[in-house]
Amino acid sequence: MNSGSAVTARRSAFERLRTETFDLLVVGGGITGAGVALDAAARGLRVAIVERSDFASGTSSKSSKLIHGGLRYLQQGDVALVYEALHERQRLLRNAPHLVRTLPFMIPDMTRDGVVSRKIARALGSALWMYDLTGGWRVGKLHRRLRAKTALAHMPTMRADKLSSAYLYFDAEADDARLTLALVQSAVARGAVAVNYCSVTGLLKESSQNATGRIVGASVRTHEGEKFDVRAGVVVNATGVWGDAMRQMDVGGNSVTIRPAKGIHITVPWELVQNDIAVVIPVPGDKRSLFVVPHMPNGDGTYRYTYVGTTDTDYQGSIDDPQCTQDDIDYCLRALNKAVSGSRAITRDDVVGTWAGLRPLVVSSDGEAVKGRTADLSRRHKVIVSDSGMVTITGGKLTTYRKMAEHTVDTALEELRKSNVATTTRAKRCSTKRLSLHGATSRDRDDHLVSRFGSHASAIRAMIAADASLGALLIEGLPYLRAEAVYAARHE
Ligand SMILES: Cc1cc2nc3c(=O)[nH]c(=O)nc-3n(C[C@H](O)[C@H](O)[C@H](O)COP(=O)(O)OP(=O)(O)OC[C@H]3O[C@@H](n4cnc5c(N)ncnc54)[C@H](O)[C@@H]3O)c2cc1C
Repeated sequence: MNSGSAVTARRSAFERLRTETFDLLVVGGGITGAGVALDAAARGLRVAIVERSDFASGTSSKSSKLIHGGLRYLQQGDVALVYEALHERQRLLRNAPHLVRTLPFMIPDMTRDGVVSRKIARALGSALWMYDLTGGWRVGKLHRRLRAKTALAHMPTMRADKLSSAYLYFDAEADDARLTLALVQSAVARGAVAVNYCSVTGLLKESSQNATGRIVGASVRTHEGEKFDVRAGVVVNATGVWGDAMRQMDVGGNSVTIRPAKGIHITVPWELVQNDIAVVIPVPGDKRSLFVVPHMPNGDGTYRYTYVGTTDTDYQGSIDDPQCTQDDIDYCLRALNKAVSGSRAITRDDVVGTWAGLRPLVVSSDGEAVKGRTADLSRRHKVIVSDSGMVTITGGKLTTYRKMAEHTVDTALEELRKSNVATTTRAKRCSTKRLSLHGATSRDRDDHLVSRFGSHASAIRAMIAADASLGALLIEGLPYLRAEAVYAARHE
């Protein structure tokens, strides 16, 4: 497809939005909305998904990029969530092997001078057994203890004076934005229409006089300035931290169902840390820990960068543009410098990049959780149906998107049945547990293009073969090629 036909494809997507009646209109092209669109399209429903900016431009490109059960949630007693997440982790490793890979994690036991107390270290050992039993075993490897010498080999900059041993366990990592895009593309391959740069600006109700009339679609505005209505049996609100704005379009007033919690990451040159696996480090003076993750492999066991995060703090600013503050950076640097013993401290000047995102945490109806620390709030998702039939899906995690989508589409089908929409009679059961995602291939995941485009890497190679200038780096110091940008503009 050349750029002209990309424009034609966009026009024909507009035409479909304008003229068809969909079973589901999904609003929000983050991992949640993309997962819902795929689940519904795979059941044979007529699906449209609209995103006001780039797909995954919201929280879904600002995560820690881990597909994990979350050891922390186990320590908080949420066994069901961890069980579910570890099950989903396994499905993702199978369904998207090009984008999701197993990642070893090390928890250093820094008990030599009491940095972490021996009691906590013992409790960690028990927690890791629980993690394995809850589903960690599915990855085929159980946690184990490492001697200090082996632990140091994984991160030679670690403070040897404090290190007595370490635990090794396994989780997985993913390119969050590419995963979201793969879901959208998989939905499109099953007949869904997906349009980015298309905002929902209002909801259509059966009777415009009646605020509680059934929702029958939404008004949208495109980047090109076009405004039209999209008709659908059910509107799914999958707008993450923007979810309350959609609910206000529905019921008016000021209903608050989401408590945004900010999380940031910092990136430093890998040479300063030299970790070849992910490392969990404690935050001094806070009952939290941070992930220290090697990023962008060079192919020889070294990496370009290490990123460190994340924070978890209440957020009151504009949800459109969360920022990483100097305090946020210092919080991460304090923990990092406590764990490493380089010839000099790692400072703000060493930070080459940051990113900040907002978790759409669900406000608990009992009011208790509203007061607690955001770090202690549940990561479970919630599906809410309004009186006018809008289905809102909020909360949850990147890791559990598939399960969240299944729950949402099950709920949407009940709503469709209430309005006697004919397609519901032939809608199939959820089929995403074993559904290979767009580009799924297990071929050499260390290959940069394969790790981003899977089996479609060959299309990019063909573009470079036809025009060698497309093989140049897009930005010096990063592995992305010019051909990737052209491919994204034409096909993604
Ligand atoms: C710092 C941080 C680290 C995290 N780390 C992990 C992790 O390692 N593993 C994990 O499993 N989870 C993690 N999470 C959680 C996970 O990232 C989120 O739960 C998930 O990305 C939320 O996705 P979403 O689709 O609900 O929201 P979003 O990705 O924000 O998507 C919502 C979309 O809706 C669009 N939108 C809004 N309003 C409109 C409108 N009117 N019309 C059209 N579109 C609209 C927005 O542009 C946006 O793209 C992390 C979260 C944070 C903040």
